[in-house]
Amino acid sequence: METHLADFIRHTTAGREAEEILRRCVHCGFCTATCPTYQLLGDELDGPRGRIYLIKQVLEGAEPTEKTRLHLDRCLTCRSCESTCPSGVHYSRLLDIGRDVVEQKVPRRGSDAFMRGTLKNLLPRPMVFGAAMKLGQSVRLLLPGAVRAKVPPLSSAGARPHRTHARQMIALAGCVQPSMYPNINGATRRVLDRLGIQMVEADGAGCCGAVRLHLNAAEASRDDARRNIDAWWPLLEAGAECLVMTASGCGSHVLEYAHLLQDDPDYALKAARVVLATRDISEVITAEAEALGALLKGCVPLPESDKPLAFQSPCSLQHGLKIRGTVESLLTAAGYTLTPVADSHLCCGSAGTYSVLQPEISKRLQANKLAALTAGAPAAIASANVGCMGHLQGGTDVPVRHWIELIDERLSA
Ligand code: SF4
Ligand code: SF4
Repeated sequence: METHLADFIRHTTAGREAEEILRRCVHCGFCTATCPTYQLLGDELDGPRGRIYLIKQVLEGAEPTEKTRLHLDRCLTCRSCESTCPSGVHYSRLLDIGRDVVEQKVPRRGSDAFMRGTLKNLLPRPMVFGAAMKLGQSVRLLLPGAVRAKVPPLSSAGARPHRTHARQMIALAGCVQPSMYPNINGATRRVLDRLGIQMVEADGAGCCGAVRLHLNAAEASRDDARRNIDAWWPLLEAGAECLVMTASGCGSHVLEYAHLLQDDPDYALKAARVVLATRDISEVITAEAEALGALLKGCVPLPESDKPLAFQSPCSLQHGLKIRGTVESLLTAAGYTLTPVADSHLCCGSAGTYSVLQPEISKRLQANKLAALTAGAPAAIASANVGCMGHLQGGTDVPVRHWIELIDERLSA
């Protein structure tokens, strides 16, 4: 697509990147067919091709309006369009650039600004969010239904292994996961321990930065990345094999660190090394498949009633990390029978803070996704991302679990 960027951005890093992305787009519209918001709303401007056009116009000097911002706000950043695009258009990066410019030119006011400010300051602070979540959990049954749906019952991380191992991997504790679903990293710790690997968490590491980036606070998101790199660096230098991501949303964002910090002379090289060391937990466990298979051979067979399982592949896993079929293979090897899930490429509507900021679209996507996931009458739904888990569980009585919890339970049987 021919572009003529305006002076305010043409000679910046963001401008050069946007121009390269825009030039790749041949305007074919294949991406539109797999865009969840276009499917629901039927407006070209609520699909990737229309949003690309809007961003192009703004970067070429057109004045954005609140309507421009709304169409960009409605994007889930699910990246389904990137998986479909035959030209390799890196849409999500263009969206970040476009949102940043529009945010500056069309400032938010009133409840929108307040809500976003609250989310930006609450979610990435584990201590504050953890205290608020504990309070919510203590009065959960008294909460209104819509709020209760976002507050999982109190749970624990389970038993902590006492052995030490020479092999060490660093896990990201994250921001909301420890208080909402502490057993995810608890289960990861136990599974890795059985495989002869010690999981460590770095003091000082916290939110990966995705929350702030998607709320258009790019510099604060870079600060999150720098803080994490500082926390992980001594462990990497001491020989930790890799960084294990148990939330695919966080993993997908950490892989962007090198890009986010490319102009930071103090962090660019460190960020590149962090990216090289980052693995999703499914990649780590797959690399240990032989040892896992030997452990599973000694386990009690799974009861028939527990076997049917629906796997929800989060967008961050399939479109962000491009990991497809890996978790499914591990679950099948562990004795589960995966039920068919229609339209598995479509977002569940969680999408970070989207379920709070765009509740109507999010609810419709949640209902569609749950209908697809429960069509095969599974005993449980497995996921790979904390945000999707909480969002889906808020709409169904079928238990929603992280797949590593299921592997942990199989190994304990
Ligand atoms: S599929 Fe790719 S090239 Fe075609 S319109 Fe969408 S982004 Fe552009
Ligand atoms: S990221 Fe998802 S919601 Fe946004 S344009 Fe692409 S497919 Fe549509």
